[in-house]
Amino acid sequence: MIVATVAAALGFQSQLHAQEKVLNIYSARHYQADSVMYDEFTRTTGIRINRIESDDAGILARLRAEGAASPADVVLLVDAARLALADSQGLFQPFRSARLDAAIPPNLRAAPTPEGVTWTGFSTRARVFAIDPQRLRAEDVATYEQLSDPKLRGMICTRSGSHPYNISLFATVIDRIGDQRGEAWLRGIVANKARPPRGGDTDQIRAVAAGECALAITNTYYVARLMRSDNPADRAVAERVRVVFPNQATTGTHVNIAGGAIARHARNRDNAIAFMEFMATPFAQKHFADGNNEFAAARNVRVNNPALSAIGGDNFKVENIPLDVVARNLVKVQQMLDRVGFK
Ligand code: FE
Repeated sequence: MIVATVAAALGFQSQLHAQEKVLNIYSARHYQADSVMYDEFTRTTGIRINRIESDDAGILARLRAEGAASPADVVLLVDAARLALADSQGLFQPFRSARLDAAIPPNLRAAPTPEGVTWTGFSTRARVFAIDPQRLRAEDVATYEQLSDPKLRGMICTRSGSHPYNISLFATVIDRIGDQRGEAWLRGIVANKARPPRGGDTDQIRAVAAGECALAITNTYYVARLMRSDNPADRAVAERVRVVFPNQATTGTHVNIAGGAIARHARNRDNAIAFMEFMATPFAQKHFADGNNEFAAARNVRVNNPALSAIGGDNFKVENIPLDVVARNLVKVQQMLDRVGFK
């Protein structure tokens, strides 16, 4: 059994009965500060966590390959379209939780069925621009659509086009403007790039501060993290950029969900539900907002993040596009990226 060998090699204990105080998490969350949250869960419940990390696509591929032999109990992803896609592929199982029903607004969760809900968001993040105010005015880049404007030639820095953060953003724009204009728009962004994509969002912000480009596409928490860094050099990077929330006068800024689900073949189902409920507690929600600078998803948790407030994160217009539209467009967008040479 190759799959069993893989699971053993990953260090998962074989699960003899569900009472065992263990939980196996497959996580696409790549934030070091999260360990505080996992430790608190173990401290308060006695449930030990085995965690393996990969990107969203890697986790979904692994779940499909492992099938019924998968040791995964909880799946954490950082992209709503991937959550919806995995759900449509039957990789999750529905569950019911009055606590989650009360805590998380319906627009941040899968549509409920009689069996329950298959996934839920725990936090959100906005995809914004960090610009060099000496080279660009905010009104020159007030919309995502303007990214293809020839005025921006040689100015844009972005991570890979195929990253879920970008694919989901592109899918929403293309849904609005249509396939033909959408592909031309992507071609325009490629023409406007300052350099081939490399690194994560933080690297793009640093490149703006260093004068290598005039605009970085980034999630809000990466900017806030630099603003709140203990390292003065990081804070200096943040001071050199200005954050623009795109499409405020039109369709709203693109917001993505990070969230979780219970794996289809979870053996530790009760522990998985306990973990999902823990993620909606004030402790975990404050961690998302304070520890990782995301926007909390739970209704009744008040958090104050001065960095997010300073860049306009308290009150901005959010794009409203059905998730299944984005999930359906993922493959099409990747094909467009390939055609226009968007690495
Ligand atoms: Fe991230």
